[in-house]
Amino acid sequence: LFGLMQDTPLTVDRFLDHGATWHGDREIVSREADGSITRADYRQLHHMAKQVSDALLAAGIARGDRVATLGWNGALHMAAWYGTTNIGAVLHTLNPRLFPEQIAWIAAHAGDRLLLADPACAALAARLVRDVPSIERVVFLCDRAALPATDYPAVAFDDWIAPHAGTATWGGFDERLACGLCYTSGTTGDPKGVLYSHRSNYLHTMMALQADALALTQRDTVLLVVPMYHANAWGVVYAAPAAGAKLVLPGARMDGESLYELIEQEGVTFSAAVPTVWQGLLQYLRGTGRAFSTLHRVVIGGAAPPPALIRAFQDDYGVEVVQGWGMTETSPLATLSAPTAEVLAQPYDEQVRRKAMQGRLQVGLDFRLVDDAGHALPHDGQTAGRLLIRGATITSGYFRDDTPVLDADGFFDTGDVATIDAAGYMHITDRAKDIVKSGGEWISSIEIENIASAHPAVAIAAVIGVAHPKWDERPILLVQPAPGQTPDKADVLAYLDGKIARWWMPDDVLVVDTIPLGATGKIDKKLLRRQFADYRLP
Ligand code: ADP
Repeated sequence: LFGLMQDTPLTVDRFLDHGATWHGDREIVSREADGSITRADYRQLHHMAKQVSDALLAAGIARGDRVATLGWNGALHMAAWYGTTNIGAVLHTLNPRLFPEQIAWIAAHAGDRLLLADPACAALAARLVRDVPSIERVVFLCDRAALPATDYPAVAFDDWIAPHAGTATWGGFDERLACGLCYTSGTTGDPKGVLYSHRSNYLHTMMALQADALALTQRDTVLLVVPMYHANAWGVVYAAPAAGAKLVLPGARMDGESLYELIEQEGVTFSAAVPTVWQGLLQYLRGTGRAFSTLHRVVIGGAAPPPALIRAFQDDYGVEVVQGWGMTETSPLATLSAPTAEVLAQPYDEQVRRKAMQGRLQVGLDFRLVDDAGHALPHDGQTAGRLLIRGATITSGYFRDDTPVLDADGFFDTGDVATIDAAGYMHITDRAKDIVKSGGEWISSIEIENIASAHPAVAIAAVIGVAHPKWDERPILLVQPAPGQTPDKADVLAYLDGKIARWWMPDDVLVVDTIPLGATGKIDKKLLRRQFADYRLP
């Protein structure tokens, strides 16, 4: 017996339709490349996105065709996004921070037909035009005045959409059609294409909007720091118009001062970003003695936020932190660390300890913890194993890649090593590839980094394993000094002493000018391991 409710397809065009119709005046504020601010609202964004759809159809783009974007967070990028997805074409967000040859490889693999690029990415775009045969045309996300000079035909976004009235029809197709394409940045191995469907993005939006997740409302002003090319911008591109939240898009400027200025100027209440971005912002606040007047909640994810970062936000600046865990393959939000009633009844230190865990599962998803042989492990908060996940927002395979990625029960292996406790809190010990294997036992690099980065002389800490004749691998600690500080090896080791097991103590502490960050702002351990490949323990 089937239900008798309407079978309205769950397609993402509904989010912008809703935003424009019922929250039409809510603003979208963009920081341009020259630092100036432009303003639009959901009604205008909707119209622009419709014109994009017209222009795409006129260019012969059909359902399933890939349209690439290459740029920072801004209103034109968002119009390009919805203009593409809403006619059933596939929005492929390219990450401009990757190496050019990697971007070219990805665009060719995806078979992108059009490239909509930020003018600041003109040199990259030129290379893609040269090296990626499938790309037919480049549209720069700007007006004619800002159009970069190129030796290939290119058009300004404004000119490209101007002839069109915005009459394209949106939606009306199967919700299982592909909607977006995002390649994992290859922190661990070759980039792989995750192909979202309208249905998965729709369901992810509903999950992300929950009160224990992003909890966005019409009353919120969201600073979208997470780049649109980083796993659906954690769902905010969909959730903001769905909720009618005001959106602030920071462009390429992610430094503390620029973000702070936007937060104060626009009355930002909510934001989401990776830990390194927040560390930069808090450093700016400390250096200038400033404080937030409207910001009251941030989601930190993409990498483990050190407890010291959570405390600084909450204790020093009155901003509530919720940690999110996920990956490109999980749309991405899969767990969040919002406190349960039981945790809230605990002393504050215990609440922070829980917040520093990756959190509890979103509705509709399943977890499994297994050993290397695939045997189920207990959820006792102690036993670490490979984390598997299953659900309607989890990938079932990669684009143009036949390698099976699900086990017999439909679980996807996240590549993360984790524990799960009786209260359902998942805690990532490490990425399987980052864990330090010493004498057959595992040392969590994240755990040591979390403690070391609370040392006053340390800005960022990274632990990697280096070869050892007896123990196979031993951890070394690399630290980037806090401004004006010179961390001392003995002092840092003394700071760790008693906080971690003796055999976890790093065999060396090295001060480096900068810890390299990867294309999504996370510590680039692959590069660090390469840089220290010839390092010999003292
Ligand atoms: P990339 O592999 O390019 O970094 P993703 O953004 O998909 O791309 O990375 C997902 C991975 O990031 C996860 O598998 C996990 O290792 C790590 N990660 C994400 N969020 C967290 C978090 N809150 N705590 C610890 N690790 C996290």
